[in-house]
Amino acid sequence: MVSESSILNTVPELPEVETIARGLDKRVAGDAVESVWIGSRQQPLKSPPAVIALTLEGKRIVRVHRAGKHIVFDLQGDATAKKSTRVGRGQSRQAASLPTAQWIVHLGMTGRMVVCEPAADLAKHTHLIAKLASGRELRFIDPRMFGKLSVHAGDFDPGGVEPLEVSEEQFVALFRGRKTPIKSALLNQKLLRGVGNIYADESLFRAGIRPRRRAAAITRENLGKLHRAVREVLREAIALGGSSISDYVDADGEEGFFQFQHRVYGREGEPCLACRTKIRRVVLAGRSSHYCSNCQK
Ligand SMILES: [Zn+2]
Repeated sequence: MVSESSILNTVPELPEVETIARGLDKRVAGDAVESVWIGSRQQPLKSPPAVIALTLEGKRIVRVHRAGKHIVFDLQGDATAKKSTRVGRGQSRQAASLPTAQWIVHLGMTGRMVVCEPAADLAKHTHLIAKLASGRELRFIDPRMFGKLSVHAGDFDPGGVEPLEVSEEQFVALFRGRKTPIKSALLNQKLLRGVGNIYADESLFRAGIRPRRRAAAITRENLGKLHRAVREVLREAIALGGSSISDYVDADGEEGFFQFQHRVYGREGEPCLACRTKIRRVVLAGRSSHYCSNCQK
């Protein structure tokens, strides 16, 4: 088992996924998938392998974007004769003739998407290779196999609301009557999609709220602060990520995520950057939470 500290900066959260999706969009939008190879490991495949292959093959990648912590490839193209036999029974004739589909990739903890030349070394734990019309390959690699690959006929909805799009009113309403700690509520993907452990801790610090505070007991004013803090933290991290896109997506070796300046996350025992009080760590629902007992109430 890998300890949490060793994966401190590698588990992709919303800003990392946004960065990766933008990098992929820059590289493969407009390209087309000619053929697909899928490995024998079943764990990462959330749609049957044959369906994944048939959905991707012959499709043009219109756009790559993020939904929550998922990477979404919008696909377009002629449904081949082969494909039409694969259309689910519940779909109408019209839907079946629509040439659009989506390929959804969740990176889990260690998943990576690499765009490379076919001659590039095949990394261990490569689960999917899409041969592109441009001659390049798009590969999905995941040593620990918490990543997920699936295809969708319609518009994929990961649930929850986008933290970067949610209004203050909507945000406040999410936590109304919730007896869980605010940290747990922030991590609840059915409420906000894509906020993970690191950015939840960082947002709570900036808003001056302790992670264990009951969500329902937080004042309207403080929830307003938290709303601003979440968006600020995510936007800053995305802005930082923008400069390291190429490092991440192209590399097939030891690339890492950009360094977001953590003020509390992973800084247990170190002085608070605002007041020098030692940062504390508590475990909430199995996840580490870091906070300053002086700055956060
Ligand atoms: Zn402090």
